[in-house]
Amino acid sequence: MAISTFDLFKIGIGPSSSHTVGPMRAGHRFLLGLEEKGVFDQVATVTVELYGSLALTGVGHGTDKAIMLGLSGELPDQVDPESIDGKLMIIKRDLRLMLKGQKAIEFDPKKHIIFFRKKVLPLHSNGMRFIAYDARYNELHSRVYYSIGGGFVVNEDTAKEDRLKKDTTALPYPFKTAAELLEMSRSSNLSIAEIMFENEKAWRSETEIRAGLDRIWQTMKECIDRGCRNTGVLPGSLKVKRRAPDFYKDLTQNPQKALRDPLSILDWVNLYALAVNEENAAGSRVVTAPTNGAAGIIPAVLRYYEEFCSGADQEGVYRFLLTASAIGILYAENASISGAEVGCQGEVGVACSMAAGGLVAALEGRSSQIEEAAEIGMEHNLGLTCDPVGGLVQIPCIERNAMGAIKAINASRIALKREGTHHVSLDSVIKTMRATGADMKTKYKETSRGGLAVNVIEC
Ligand code: SF4
Repeated sequence: MAISTFDLFKIGIGPSSSHTVGPMRAGHRFLLGLEEKGVFDQVATVTVELYGSLALTGVGHGTDKAIMLGLSGELPDQVDPESIDGKLMIIKRDLRLMLKGQKAIEFDPKKHIIFFRKKVLPLHSNGMRFIAYDARYNELHSRVYYSIGGGFVVNEDTAKEDRLKKDTTALPYPFKTAAELLEMSRSSNLSIAEIMFENEKAWRSETEIRAGLDRIWQTMKECIDRGCRNTGVLPGSLKVKRRAPDFYKDLTQNPQKALRDPLSILDWVNLYALAVNEENAAGSRVVTAPTNGAAGIIPAVLRYYEEFCSGADQEGVYRFLLTASAIGILYAENASISGAEVGCQGEVGVACSMAAGGLVAALEGRSSQIEEAAEIGMEHNLGLTCDPVGGLVQIPCIERNAMGAIKAINASRIALKREGTHHVSLDSVIKTMRATGADMKTKYKETSRGGLAVNVIEC
C-alpha cells in the first residue's frame, strides 16, 4: 500500500476531516456508485444513516451538511465555502436535493438523515450507510462507508481488508516503520525528504510535486491571513469569540512592546495556530494536516520557520512538508489519525510529531534528529483525549493547536541539541499511542460524552 504526501495534506473545508471532509467524499462516492450501477436516473430519494461518533457529534461537526453537499456533487477541495449556506438553504426550503446537480430527488434532511447515536457499525466508530430508493421505495443501491480520519474514506470491503484505500503503486523506497525509513536514509544517503520526493515521482512529475507543495503552503498561508482578519463569533451554540484578530492587532500595533518581550515569537506562533483553527471552526478553506481538528499546528510551525528562522527558503518548506508527511504515513499505517479511534493523540499528537520532525528537516537536521523530534512530539501527547465541548471543533481544539505548535518547536530544539541515541524510538511511541488509544474509554473518543465536554456548561 502506498500513501502520498498529497493524501495526508488535502485541501478541504472545516470543521472536521473525519466528520465533514470524509462524509462529503462518501456522499460523492455514493453518487458515482449510482452511475456505475446504472440506476442514477431511477433514484427518487436517498436515506443516510449515521452511526457512532458521526451520530453523536455529527451536527456540531456539520456531517449532515457535508453529506448533502457530497450528494449534490461537491468535493471538499473544490466547493466554494462562500456558496455552502445558500446551497443548503435551498435544500431545506424545497425539501429536494439535486443529485450531482442534475437530478432532483425528494430529500428532507430531518427525515432522510438518521442519527443512530447508540449504535456503531462493526469496523469503525465513524460509520455511515447510504441507501437509494426508486419512486416506489424499492431499494436500488446501498453502501456502507467508514470515515477513518484525515478525510480518508473506505467502503465496507476495503475496511475489512485494509485500513486505507488500497493503492498498489510500486514505490522506489517503500517503508513501513521508522526503523526502515532511517535505515533506507542511511544506506541510500538520501534525506527523508529526498526519499519522499523520489516516492512521489511514482505518481507525478517533479514539476507537479513542487507545484502541489506550493499550493498546499499557499493555502495554509491564506488561511492564516484570513484568520487574522476575520472577526466575530464562531458558528454553534458556544458563541466562541474569535481571538486571532485581537492577537494580530496587538502584535502589529505594539511592535515596541513585542520587541521588549523575549517570548513574543510564541505569541506569533499562537496567533498562526489560532487563526487557522478559527477558520476551520467557521467551515472555511483549510488544509487537512493530517486532520482538520489539528490543522493549525503544521501551518503555525512552518510559518514560524519562514518568518523567524534564519536561512529559511522554499527548499526548506519542501523539506518540511515532505518529511512531515513521511512521519504522518507512519502513524496512518501503524496506528491511527482518527480522534474517534484513538483520541486527540491521533490528531493533535500526530500533527505535533509531524511538525517537530518537519521543522528539524527544514533546519537541515539529520534523519536521526528528525526521528527523535517526531518521537518527542508524540511522547508528550500520549493519552490525550478527545472531548470537544458541544460536539464543536472549538473547545479545546483551537487552543490545543497553539499548545501543539509550541510543543513541536520545543521538541525540534531538544532533538537538534543531541548527538547520540535516545531511549524511546519513534516506532515504540507509535505502538504505545495505538495501544493507549485501544485502552481509552469510548467516551473520550470524539463522542462529547466525557472530559471537558461534560464538565463545561454550554451557554
Ligand atoms: S479534541 Fe482533538 S481530536 Fe477531538 S475534535 Fe478536537 S482536535 Fe479533534
